[in-house]
Parts: sequence; C-alpha cells; structure tokens
Amino acid sequence: MSLNYSIDCRCCGTHTDHRVATNLRSRPSSAELLRHIDTECAIRCPKCGSRLNGSYEEFRSQIIIEVCD
Ligand SMILES: [Zn+2]
Repeated sequence: MSLNYSIDCRCCGTHTDHRVATNLRSRPSSAELLRHIDTECAIRCPKCGSRLNGSYEEFRSQIIIEVCD
C-alpha cells in the first residue's frame, strides 16, 4: 500500500505531490498515516523554498493524504 500526499505551501500556496511506500495492510487512521511520512528530512516548497515540515503540527496543517491500495 502506498500513500500519496500533497502539501499546499502556506507561504505561496504551491501544491506539491509526494508518494511514499508503506508496509500497511489495512487502511490506517490519519494519525497513523502521518507517522509514515518523514519529518526528519526537510521537505521544501519547490517554488518559494519554504520548509513545509518544520514541525509536525505545521506539516499536518498543510498536508492532504490519500491511500492507494
Ligand atoms: Zn511556497
């Protein structure tokens, strides 16, 4: 199962899509989903360079997650 997630930059509004593979077998809650997304490495807006995942709360407020089977 993989997760597609998109982030809308709160600075300039640019929409970026990301994809991450997981070993999940059933559809998890959104809190569980967020644990599969790396917040250690900086994810930056490709347009303005603003860091999108400076903190977990900040990241969560900007992200939209879709699960793909
Ligand atoms: Zn931006």
